[in-house]
Amino acid sequence: MGDPLDQKDLIHLPFLKEAQQFLGDFASPLDTFLPTSLGERVVTRAYARVAMAVRKGRSDQGRTLSRATTDALGIRIEIASFVLARIIVSCVKDRSLIERLCRYEAQLAYEALVEGSEKTRDLVAERIGFVPIKGSVPVVMYIEAVAGLREDRWRLVNREVEGGLVALTKIEADELMRERIRVMLTQQLPLIVPDTVCRYLEPITTDLLAMVKASILEEFGEIEEGFFPPCIKAIIDALAVGTNITHPGRFALTAFCHTIGMATTGIIELFSRAPDFSYDRTIYQVEHITGRGGTEYSPPSCATMRTHGLCVKPDPLCTKVNFPIRYYSVKKKSHLPREGGETSQGSPST
Ligand code: SF4
Repeated sequence: MGDPLDQKDLIHLPFLKEAQQFLGDFASPLDTFLPTSLGERVVTRAYARVAMAVRKGRSDQGRTLSRATTDALGIRIEIASFVLARIIVSCVKDRSLIERLCRYEAQLAYEALVEGSEKTRDLVAERIGFVPIKGSVPVVMYIEAVAGLREDRWRLVNREVEGGLVALTKIEADELMRERIRVMLTQQLPLIVPDTVCRYLEPITTDLLAMVKASILEEFGEIEEGFFPPCIKAIIDALAVGTNITHPGRFALTAFCHTIGMATTGIIELFSRAPDFSYDRTIYQVEHITGRGGTEYSPPSCATMRTHGLCVKPDPLCTKVNFPIRYYSVKKKSHLPREGGETSQGSPST
């Protein structure tokens, strides 16, 4: 059986072994390739990939490219830029940048799947080990596939299950393939990159790191404890009076604070309010949750908070959100100054 993929499909599916085979030793050895004029083109495209990921850009740019890039050299540059983008985020060593790139690449692949042929879809499904049969997948495969998804519609209790199989629509199957690709790509990073290569890329890694920090600031603004949701405030208050905080409580506080851009030192400062504060134990836990161990955890949903008895004193805004992080974002935005200096809801209520 010949290769069923069109070469242009490889632009959107650069993680497939077919793409890597097509690339061959095009960019090898990397440290001598990068300073060449072709290398510069790849660096420029790789930078654009990561920048798009940081800005949560749509992948329209990718579709435009697939129409414009028809020659083998152009396709190789695109595949090499995928490889280099992974190298760049590995040099930066920022877990949120890695997460953003993987999400972006998975979205690119998803759009190619939605718009592509059945043949392409089947091949990708086989490569990533997620092959629905007649629109269903075994429960075990399903549970694994939705582990990182928060929406209620993915919960097994909300699914049609028959004979150990979970039914999926075509769109849902594509969404789970996207998720599978995201997880797969995330698990492969960071790569071990030679210092010489990271040093060469330093000007752009510095720039991208600043872009990540700016985007967190843009999303959440300066950190304002006054806008924290009641559940997070309750954990902080409990810490201050010496109440023993359960592991889910510590986890929720750490993941929440990390996501809104609080530095590790700021998070440790919160925990240091507890009378039994231990620096070593706290830094170990914080670094584990914020991704130093290779996995960055997302803040829990309100449903998970309720399960652990951490949803306390919900207020009216709570009825409109499903995530404490969303509560914070909504509340902050509602207090942004309008023209004339007023806030959209008057003074903060806290
Ligand atoms: S509803 Fe959500 S945001 Fe509000 S207190 Fe409960 S867990 Fe926190």
